[in-house]
Amino acid sequence: MRPMTLAEPAAAETSGRSAYPPIAEHGIIGDLHSVALVATDGTIDWYCPQQFDAPSVFGAILDKDKGGYYRIAPVGEDWTSTQFYFPDTNVLVTRFLSPSGVAEVIGFMPIGSTRAEQHRHRLVRRVCKACRRVFQPSAEIQVECNLLPHHQLYQAVGCAQCGKLGYRGRIGLQEVFAITAPIREALQAGASDDDLYTLAAHSGMINLFTDGVAKCVAGYSTIEEVYKTILADS
Ligand SMILES: [Zn+2]
Repeated sequence: MRPMTLAEPAAAETSGRSAYPPIAEHGIIGDLHSVALVATDGTIDWYCPQQFDAPSVFGAILDKDKGGYYRIAPVGEDWTSTQFYFPDTNVLVTRFLSPSGVAEVIGFMPIGSTRAEQHRHRLVRRVCKACRRVFQPSAEIQVECNLLPHHQLYQAVGCAQCGKLGYRGRIGLQEVFAITAPIREALQAGASDDDLYTLAAHSGMINLFTDGVAKCVAGYSTIEEVYKTILADS
């Protein structure tokens, strides 16, 4: 493999891209919280940092002049490229071929490993309001979910409006981590993520499960969906 010259990152360029590559001409890399789209020409033209619905920092896929992008690609025009994943991974290889040689750019996003990062938010499917059905939860579910006697839950059914799935769209479950006095003291003392999480759990933190139950009682999703999503983590 002979070396070839790669261009400076696109941030240094003054002009936008000349065209919109088709969506199929993109690889996708992600960390379970967000994804970046990498075009076969080496351009990251879609990326929202930290979470899927955050504001984008690279959005050239929608606006080539003002959307913003980041590119590592060969200088000049006399090259072709191809993309593939390392087998059974989300590690994306963009390979450039030119008369002067071959170059590869390897793209991936590391997955967060601390417990706090794993548990901040999840998406569950929204139950279809056109066909959802009220159901009486078992005593076991009532206890486990801390339900009051007047709380109602819903079941997904399926109709023409939801394509017989019983669900339409998504809704987020979020942890609410309030900074109480004990937590502020622990933060100042340099406590670890795990210690902070334990302390928060004992001081009224809304975790994913309690938020999920509240959203089921409000009619947004089903307890089945919440269990499935949260148990998939454990
Ligand atoms: Zn429906």
